[in-house]
Amino acid sequence: MEMSDTQKNSGITHEHGVVRGWVHSFQSLGAVDGPGVRFVVFLQGCPLRCAYCHNPDTWAFPEVMIAKGCSGVAGGITAAGSNGIAGCTAAVAYTPEEVVKKILRFKPYIKNGGVTVSGGEALMQPEFVAGLFRLLQREGLHTALDTSGIGDLKKAADVLKYTNLVLADLKFSEPEDYKKYCGADMLQVLAFLDLTETMGVPLWIRHVVVPGLNDMPENIREIGRISHSYTNLEKLELLPFKKICMSKYDEMGMEFGLKDYEACSAARIAELEGYLASLRSRK
Ligand code: SF4
Repeated sequence: MEMSDTQKNSGITHEHGVVRGWVHSFQSLGAVDGPGVRFVVFLQGCPLRCAYCHNPDTWAFPEVMIAKGCSGVAGGITAAGSNGIAGCTAAVAYTPEEVVKKILRFKPYIKNGGVTVSGGEALMQPEFVAGLFRLLQREGLHTALDTSGIGDLKKAADVLKYTNLVLADLKFSEPEDYKKYCGADMLQVLAFLDLTETMGVPLWIRHVVVPGLNDMPENIREIGRISHSYTNLEKLELLPFKKICMSKYDEMGMEFGLKDYEACSAARIAELEGYLASLRSRK
C-alpha cells in the first residue's frame, strides 16, 4: 500500500549504517500493555489522528518538528513550551543497543513480563523496532508490539519475526468511521491483522469504547466477529474511553475532538463484555 510522504520521512535509520529510533519516553514498570510487569518504550511519530488519542505529543515526526522550527539538542529535540511551537515535543534518538542497556537494569522486575514498544506508531520505525526486539529476545525477554497496524507490510513482517505478542487496536468496525475519526484506511489495518495470523504471532485486539460513538450493539458485534475470525487471537479487550488527556490538549493549544462525549464507565464495559460472551455462547 502506498505510504504518505510523512510515513516515508519517519525515523532516522541509516546514518552511517547505524539504526536509530526516535523515542518519546520510557515507562520502566508498566502494568497494562501486555502480560506481566513491562518496560514500555514510546516512540515518536504517528500518521493517524485518532479523535480519542491520549498522546497527541507523540504525533509529530521529528523531521516535521525540525522543519517547523523546533530546535535540536544533543541527540534530540526540545520540548514544547521552550519555544511555544505547537506539536513540538521532546524526542531523543537512540540505537537499539542503547535502549537495551537501559532495559537490562530492570531485568529482575520484568523477566516474567517483558518489553512493549508503543507509540506514536511503532511501525513507522520498523528497522529500529526489529533491531531492538531481536536483541531483547536474545536476552530472553518477551517482546510485545502495540500498534494501530498502519505501516509498510513488508517491513512489519521484519518486525513480527522478533515479536512474541501483537497488541493491535481495532478502533472502529466500519471503514467510514476509521477514515472519519482516525484518518486511517481500515483495509490496511485488516491486512496487518492478516499478516499476524499468517506469521503465527499471538494477537490481542483492543477496542476503545466511546459511549454514543462506537458502543452500539452492531458495532460491538462486528468488532467481535472480526476479532474472532483470527485463529491467532488470544484476547479481545474492551477499553473504556477516558478524558484525562484533555489537559494535555489544552497545554498543546489543541482541541480535543471528543470533548463532548462522556467517558465510558466500568459498568458499560462489563455490560458489553457480557454481550460479546452471549454472542459467542450462541455459536
Ligand atoms: S494510532 Fe495511537 S498514537 Fe496515533 S493517533 Fe491513534 S491513538 Fe494516537
